[in-house]
Amino acid sequence: MGLFSKARATPLDGVDVVLADLDGVVYAGPGALPHAVESLNRVAETRRVGYITNNASRTDASVAGHLTELGLSVAAEDVVTSPQAAMRLLATMVPAPATLLIVGGEGLVVEAEKAGYRVTRSAEDAPDAVVQGFAPEVAWTDLAEAAFALKVPEDEGGIPWIATNSDWTIPRERGVAPGNGTLVSAVHTAVGRLATVAGKPEVPIFEEAIARFNAHKTLFIGDRLDTDIMGAARVGIDSALALTGIDRPKHVLAAPEGSRPTYVLSDLRELHEPYPTVERRNGAVTVNGATVRVVGGDVEILAEGKRHIDLVRAGAHAIWDSGTPIFVLDVPEKLYDDPFHRP
Ligand SMILES: [Mg+2]
Repeated sequence: MGLFSKARATPLDGVDVVLADLDGVVYAGPGALPHAVESLNRVAETRRVGYITNNASRTDASVAGHLTELGLSVAAEDVVTSPQAAMRLLATMVPAPATLLIVGGEGLVVEAEKAGYRVTRSAEDAPDAVVQGFAPEVAWTDLAEAAFALKVPEDEGGIPWIATNSDWTIPRERGVAPGNGTLVSAVHTAVGRLATVAGKPEVPIFEEAIARFNAHKTLFIGDRLDTDIMGAARVGIDSALALTGIDRPKHVLAAPEGSRPTYVLSDLRELHEPYPTVERRNGAVTVNGATVRVVGGDVEILAEGKRHIDLVRAGAHAIWDSGTPIFVLDVPEKLYDDPFHRP
Protein backbone atom coordinates (compact mmCIF):
# COMPACT_ATOMS: atom_id res chain seq x y z
CA MET A 1 0.00 0.00 0.00
CA GLY A 2 1.31 3.40 -0.93
CA LEU A 3 1.60 6.38 1.35
CA PHE A 4 -1.50 7.98 -0.14
CA SER A 5 -3.56 4.80 -0.46
CA LYS A 6 -7.29 5.26 -0.05
CA ALA A 7 -8.59 5.22 3.52
CA ARG A 8 -10.36 2.02 4.50
CA ALA A 9 -14.11 2.12 4.14
CA THR A 10 -16.56 2.48 6.99
CA PRO A 11 -19.64 0.23 7.10
CA LEU A 12 -21.60 3.20 5.72
CA ASP A 13 -19.57 3.64 2.53
CA GLY A 14 -21.80 3.36 -0.54
CA VAL A 15 -24.88 2.81 1.61
CA ASP A 16 -27.92 5.00 0.92
CA VAL A 17 -30.35 3.58 3.47
CA VAL A 18 -29.62 2.42 7.02
CA LEU A 19 -32.27 0.32 8.73
CA ALA A 20 -32.08 -0.25 12.46
CA ASP A 21 -33.74 -2.67 14.81
CA LEU A 22 -34.92 -1.03 18.04
CA ASP A 23 -34.59 -3.12 21.20
CA GLY A 24 -30.91 -3.83 21.89
CA VAL A 25 -29.77 -1.42 19.16
CA VAL A 26 -31.40 1.94 19.95
CA TYR A 27 -32.73 1.34 23.45
CA ALA A 28 -32.96 -1.20 26.25
CA GLY A 29 -35.91 -0.83 28.57
CA PRO A 30 -36.95 2.80 28.88
CA GLY A 31 -33.56 4.38 28.07
CA ALA A 32 -31.39 4.81 24.97
CA LEU A 33 -28.23 2.71 24.70
CA PRO A 34 -24.89 4.52 25.01
CA HIS A 35 -23.81 6.25 21.76
CA ALA A 36 -26.85 5.02 19.80
CA VAL A 37 -28.72 8.32 19.44
CA GLU A 38 -25.68 10.45 18.52
CA SER A 39 -24.43 7.85 16.04
CA LEU A 40 -27.79 7.47 14.29
CA ASN A 41 -28.36 11.22 14.16
CA ARG A 42 -24.98 11.51 12.49
CA VAL A 43 -25.97 8.85 9.96
CA ALA A 44 -29.19 10.76 9.27
CA GLU A 45 -27.21 13.85 8.22
CA THR A 46 -26.21 12.12 4.99
CA ARG A 47 -28.47 9.09 4.58
CA ARG A 48 -32.02 7.90 4.99
CA VAL A 49 -32.51 6.09 8.31
CA GLY A 50 -35.45 3.76 8.90
CA TYR A 51 -36.48 1.73 11.91
CA ILE A 52 -37.80 -1.82 11.81
CA THR A 53 -39.75 -3.48 14.58
CA ASN A 54 -41.43 -6.85 14.98
CA ASN A 55 -43.51 -5.36 17.80
CA ALA A 56 -47.11 -5.45 16.59
CA SER A 57 -48.75 -3.78 19.55
CA ARG A 58 -47.56 -0.21 18.85
CA THR A 59 -48.37 1.98 15.87
CA ASP A 60 -45.66 3.55 13.69
CA ALA A 61 -46.61 6.97 15.09
CA SER A 62 -46.22 5.82 18.68
CA VAL A 63 -42.83 4.23 17.94
CA ALA A 64 -41.73 7.45 16.19
CA GLY A 65 -42.87 9.47 19.21
CA HIS A 66 -40.85 7.27 21.56
CA LEU A 67 -37.71 7.52 19.41
CA THR A 68 -38.10 11.29 19.14
CA GLU A 69 -38.31 11.50 22.93
CA LEU A 70 -34.98 9.65 23.09
CA GLY A 71 -33.40 12.39 20.95
CA LEU A 72 -33.72 11.01 17.42
CA SER A 73 -35.65 12.83 14.73
CA VAL A 74 -38.15 10.25 13.49
CA ALA A 75 -41.46 10.58 11.63
CA ALA A 76 -44.13 7.86 11.51
CA GLU A 77 -43.23 7.02 7.90
CA ASP A 78 -39.63 6.24 8.99
CA VAL A 79 -40.90 3.30 11.05
CA VAL A 80 -41.67 -0.08 9.49
CA THR A 81 -43.74 -2.36 11.71
CA SER A 82 -44.60 -6.03 11.39
CA PRO A 83 -48.32 -5.21 10.94
CA GLN A 84 -47.36 -3.11 7.89
CA ALA A 85 -45.38 -6.06 6.54
CA ALA A 86 -48.40 -8.29 7.22
CA MET A 87 -50.61 -5.96 5.14
CA ARG A 88 -48.07 -6.05 2.30
CA LEU A 89 -48.22 -9.85 2.37
CA LEU A 90 -52.02 -9.91 2.61
CA ALA A 91 -52.48 -7.63 -0.40
CA THR A 92 -51.07 -10.45 -2.55
CA MET A 93 -53.50 -13.02 -1.08
CA VAL A 94 -56.71 -11.23 -0.07
CA PRO A 95 -56.98 -7.70 -1.47
CA ALA A 96 -58.94 -5.03 0.43
CA PRO A 97 -61.77 -4.50 1.21
CA ALA A 98 -61.90 -8.05 2.57
CA THR A 99 -62.74 -8.86 6.18
CA LEU A 100 -59.89 -9.73 8.55
CA LEU A 101 -60.23 -11.57 11.83
CA ILE A 102 -57.69 -9.75 13.97
CA VAL A 103 -56.02 -11.30 16.98
CA GLY A 104 -53.95 -8.46 18.39
CA GLY A 105 -53.96 -4.83 19.42
CA GLU A 106 -54.14 -1.29 18.14
CA GLY A 107 -50.98 -1.50 16.03
CA LEU A 108 -52.61 -4.19 13.92
CA VAL A 109 -56.14 -2.76 13.76
CA VAL A 110 -54.88 0.68 12.66
CA GLU A 111 -52.81 -0.81 9.81
CA ALA A 112 -55.66 -3.07 8.67
CA GLU A 113 -58.06 -0.15 8.48
CA LYS A 114 -55.45 2.07 6.82
CA ALA A 115 -55.06 -0.63 4.15
CA GLY A 116 -58.82 -0.61 3.56
CA TYR A 117 -59.80 -3.84 5.31
CA ARG A 118 -62.85 -4.47 7.47
CA VAL A 119 -61.94 -5.72 10.92
CA THR A 120 -63.77 -8.32 12.97
CA ARG A 121 -63.03 -10.17 16.20
CA SER A 122 -65.42 -13.05 15.50
CA ALA A 123 -65.15 -16.15 13.28
CA GLU A 124 -68.92 -15.87 12.80
CA ASP A 125 -68.40 -12.87 10.48
CA ALA A 126 -66.93 -15.20 7.82
CA PRO A 127 -63.50 -13.51 7.70
CA ASP A 128 -61.36 -13.80 4.53
CA ALA A 129 -58.11 -14.13 6.51
CA VAL A 130 -56.78 -14.28 10.07
CA VAL A 131 -54.02 -11.89 11.12
CA GLN A 132 -52.33 -12.49 14.43
CA GLY A 133 -49.98 -10.19 16.35
CA PHE A 134 -49.03 -9.72 19.96
CA ALA A 135 -50.84 -7.42 22.35
CA PRO A 136 -50.92 -7.85 26.13
CA GLU A 137 -54.72 -8.06 26.05
CA VAL A 138 -54.88 -11.05 23.67
CA ALA A 139 -56.95 -13.70 25.46
CA TRP A 140 -57.89 -17.37 25.09
CA THR A 141 -61.18 -16.25 23.57
CA ASP A 142 -59.24 -14.52 20.74
CA LEU A 143 -57.15 -17.63 20.08
CA ALA A 144 -60.36 -19.68 20.04
CA GLU A 145 -61.91 -17.37 17.38
CA ALA A 146 -58.75 -17.79 15.26
CA ALA A 147 -58.97 -21.58 15.62
CA PHE A 148 -62.66 -21.58 14.58
CA ALA A 149 -61.87 -19.43 11.53
CA LEU A 150 -58.92 -21.67 10.56
CA LYS A 151 -60.58 -25.06 10.93
CA VAL A 152 -60.47 -25.81 7.18
CA PRO A 153 -56.95 -26.71 5.95
CA GLU A 154 -55.52 -24.27 3.40
CA ASP A 155 -55.31 -26.91 0.64
CA GLU A 156 -59.02 -27.59 1.12
CA GLY A 157 -59.95 -23.96 0.58
CA GLY A 158 -59.21 -22.65 4.08
CA ILE A 159 -58.52 -18.94 4.54
CA PRO A 160 -54.96 -17.50 4.84
CA TRP A 161 -53.37 -17.05 8.26
CA ILE A 162 -50.70 -14.38 8.69
CA ALA A 163 -48.61 -13.87 11.82
CA THR A 164 -46.94 -10.50 12.23
CA ASN A 165 -43.89 -12.21 13.77
CA SER A 166 -42.81 -15.45 15.39
CA ASP A 167 -40.74 -14.28 18.38
CA TRP A 168 -41.17 -16.91 21.09
CA THR A 169 -40.60 -14.51 23.94
CA ILE A 170 -41.11 -10.90 24.92
CA PRO A 171 -38.80 -9.24 27.44
CA ARG A 172 -40.70 -7.57 30.24
CA GLU A 173 -39.48 -5.66 33.26
CA ARG A 174 -40.17 -8.65 35.53
CA GLY A 175 -38.72 -11.26 33.20
CA VAL A 176 -39.35 -13.16 29.98
CA ALA A 177 -42.97 -13.68 28.88
CA PRO A 178 -44.62 -15.59 25.99
CA GLY A 179 -44.32 -13.72 22.69
CA ASN A 180 -46.40 -13.88 19.51
CA GLY A 181 -44.72 -17.07 18.29
CA THR A 182 -45.84 -18.85 21.42
CA LEU A 183 -49.45 -17.69 20.99
CA VAL A 184 -49.41 -18.56 17.27
CA SER A 185 -48.07 -21.95 18.26
CA ALA A 186 -51.07 -22.50 20.57
CA VAL A 187 -53.43 -21.97 17.62
CA HIS A 188 -51.21 -24.13 15.41
CA THR A 189 -51.41 -26.98 17.91
CA ALA A 190 -55.20 -26.70 17.90
CA VAL A 191 -55.75 -26.54 14.11
CA GLY A 192 -52.71 -28.30 12.64
CA ARG A 193 -51.96 -25.44 10.24
CA LEU A 194 -48.91 -23.18 9.92
CA ALA A 195 -49.06 -19.39 9.78
CA THR A 196 -47.20 -17.32 7.19
CA VAL A 197 -44.88 -14.89 9.00
CA ALA A 198 -44.35 -11.25 7.95
CA GLY A 199 -41.72 -10.01 10.43
CA LYS A 200 -38.03 -10.75 10.90
CA PRO A 201 -36.39 -13.15 10.07
CA GLU A 202 -38.84 -13.53 7.16
CA VAL A 203 -38.42 -11.19 4.19
CA PRO A 204 -41.71 -9.20 3.89
CA ILE A 205 -40.73 -6.65 6.55
CA PHE A 206 -37.38 -6.02 4.84
CA GLU A 207 -39.04 -5.82 1.41
CA GLU A 208 -41.53 -3.28 2.78
CA ALA A 209 -38.66 -1.12 4.09
CA ILE A 210 -36.50 -1.39 0.96
CA ALA A 211 -39.47 -0.50 -1.26
CA ARG A 212 -40.66 2.39 0.92
CA PHE A 213 -37.23 4.03 1.18
CA ASN A 214 -36.33 3.23 -2.44
CA ALA A 215 -33.04 1.78 -1.19
CA HIS A 216 -30.22 0.86 -3.56
CA LYS A 217 -27.65 -0.29 -1.00
CA THR A 218 -29.01 -1.03 2.44
CA LEU A 219 -27.26 -1.70 5.74
CA PHE A 220 -29.33 -3.33 8.46
CA ILE A 221 -28.26 -3.04 12.11
CA GLY A 222 -29.52 -5.60 14.61
CA ASP A 223 -28.64 -7.30 17.88
CA ARG A 224 -29.90 -10.83 17.17
CA LEU A 225 -28.32 -13.32 14.79
CA ASP A 226 -31.38 -15.55 14.47
CA THR A 227 -33.81 -12.80 13.45
CA ASP A 228 -32.01 -9.59 12.39
CA ILE A 229 -28.91 -10.99 10.74
CA MET A 230 -30.65 -14.05 9.27
CA GLY A 231 -33.41 -11.85 7.82
CA ALA A 232 -30.93 -9.43 6.25
CA ALA A 233 -29.02 -12.35 4.73
CA ARG A 234 -32.23 -13.84 3.29
CA VAL A 235 -33.12 -10.60 1.55
CA GLY A 236 -29.51 -10.14 0.38
CA ILE A 237 -28.47 -6.96 2.20
CA ASP A 238 -25.41 -6.21 4.35
CA SER A 239 -25.83 -6.40 8.10
CA ALA A 240 -24.09 -5.16 11.23
CA LEU A 241 -24.45 -6.93 14.55
CA ALA A 242 -24.23 -4.49 17.47
CA LEU A 243 -22.95 -6.11 20.67
CA THR A 244 -25.30 -3.94 22.72
CA GLY A 245 -28.21 -6.34 22.96
CA ILE A 246 -29.08 -10.03 23.07
CA ASP A 247 -26.25 -11.79 21.25
CA ARG A 248 -22.75 -11.88 22.76
CA PRO A 249 -19.25 -12.65 21.35
CA LYS A 250 -19.72 -16.39 21.95
CA HIS A 251 -22.87 -16.33 19.77
CA VAL A 252 -21.01 -14.49 17.00
CA LEU A 253 -18.25 -17.12 17.00
CA ALA A 254 -20.90 -19.86 16.80
CA ALA A 255 -23.07 -18.18 14.14
CA PRO A 256 -24.20 -20.71 11.54
CA GLU A 257 -24.00 -19.99 7.83
CA GLY A 258 -26.91 -17.74 6.87
CA SER A 259 -26.76 -15.85 10.19
CA ARG A 260 -23.30 -14.28 9.89
CA PRO A 261 -23.12 -10.50 9.95
CA THR A 262 -21.10 -8.47 7.46
CA TYR A 263 -19.84 -6.32 10.36
CA VAL A 264 -19.53 -6.85 14.11
CA LEU A 265 -19.66 -3.61 16.12
CA SER A 266 -18.96 -2.86 19.79
CA ASP A 267 -21.52 -0.07 19.56
CA LEU A 268 -22.92 2.25 16.91
CA ARG A 269 -19.96 4.67 17.00
CA GLU A 270 -18.10 2.11 14.89
CA LEU A 271 -20.50 2.79 12.00
CA HIS A 272 -18.43 5.92 11.42
CA GLU A 273 -15.01 4.29 11.82
CA PRO A 274 -13.01 2.54 9.10
CA TYR A 275 -13.80 -1.17 9.33
CA PRO A 276 -10.57 -3.19 9.46
CA THR A 277 -9.91 -5.60 6.63
CA VAL A 278 -9.99 -9.33 7.26
CA GLU A 279 -6.66 -10.75 6.08
CA ARG A 280 -6.15 -14.46 5.50
CA ARG A 281 -2.54 -15.66 5.46
CA ASN A 282 -0.93 -19.08 6.10
CA GLY A 283 -4.16 -20.51 7.46
CA ALA A 284 -4.64 -17.69 9.95
CA VAL A 285 -7.02 -14.73 10.02
CA THR A 286 -5.79 -11.28 11.07
CA VAL A 287 -7.98 -8.29 11.86
CA ASN A 288 -6.14 -5.14 12.88
CA GLY A 289 -3.33 -6.95 14.69
CA ALA A 290 -5.47 -9.73 16.21
CA THR A 291 -4.66 -13.13 14.69
CA VAL A 292 -6.51 -16.42 15.15
CA ARG A 293 -6.20 -19.78 13.43
CA VAL A 294 -7.96 -23.11 13.60
CA VAL A 295 -5.72 -26.17 13.53
CA GLY A 296 -7.49 -29.49 13.69
CA GLY A 297 -9.88 -29.16 16.62
CA ASP A 298 -8.04 -26.27 18.26
CA VAL A 299 -8.69 -22.56 17.96
CA GLU A 300 -5.42 -20.70 18.63
CA ILE A 301 -4.89 -17.03 19.36
CA LEU A 302 -1.58 -16.03 17.74
CA ALA A 303 -1.90 -12.32 18.59
CA GLU A 304 -4.49 -10.61 20.78
CA GLY A 305 -4.25 -7.23 19.07
CA LYS A 306 -5.09 -3.99 20.82
CA ARG A 307 -8.90 -4.06 20.86
CA HIS A 308 -10.98 -7.02 21.92
CA ILE A 309 -13.53 -6.37 19.16
CA ASP A 310 -10.81 -7.15 16.57
CA LEU A 311 -10.02 -10.44 18.33
CA VAL A 312 -13.73 -11.37 18.21
CA ARG A 313 -13.81 -10.52 14.49
CA ALA A 314 -10.66 -12.51 13.74
CA GLY A 315 -11.89 -15.45 15.83
CA ALA A 316 -15.27 -15.44 14.15
CA HIS A 317 -13.83 -15.43 10.62
CA ALA A 318 -11.28 -18.14 11.50
CA ILE A 319 -13.99 -20.38 12.94
CA TRP A 320 -16.48 -19.63 10.13
CA ASP A 321 -13.79 -20.32 7.50
CA SER A 322 -12.91 -23.65 9.13
CA GLY A 323 -16.35 -25.05 8.33
CA THR A 324 -16.22 -26.87 11.66
CA PRO A 325 -19.15 -26.50 14.07
CA ILE A 326 -17.98 -24.67 17.18
CA PHE A 327 -19.13 -27.39 19.59
CA VAL A 328 -16.43 -29.74 18.34
CA LEU A 329 -13.71 -27.06 18.61
CA ASP A 330 -11.54 -26.27 21.59
CA VAL A 331 -11.98 -22.50 21.98
CA PRO A 332 -9.76 -20.44 24.30
CA GLU A 333 -11.80 -18.70 27.02
CA LYS A 334 -10.23 -15.38 26.04
CA LEU A 335 -12.30 -15.33 22.84
CA TYR A 336 -15.48 -15.41 24.90
CA ASP A 337 -14.50 -12.32 26.93
CA ASP A 338 -17.34 -9.81 26.89
CA PRO A 339 -16.26 -6.29 27.84
CA PHE A 340 -19.02 -4.80 25.66
CA HIS A 341 -22.06 -2.94 26.87
CA ARG A 342 -24.90 -5.23 27.86
CA PRO A 343 -28.36 -3.87 28.49
MG1 LIG B 1 -33.45 -6.29 18.93
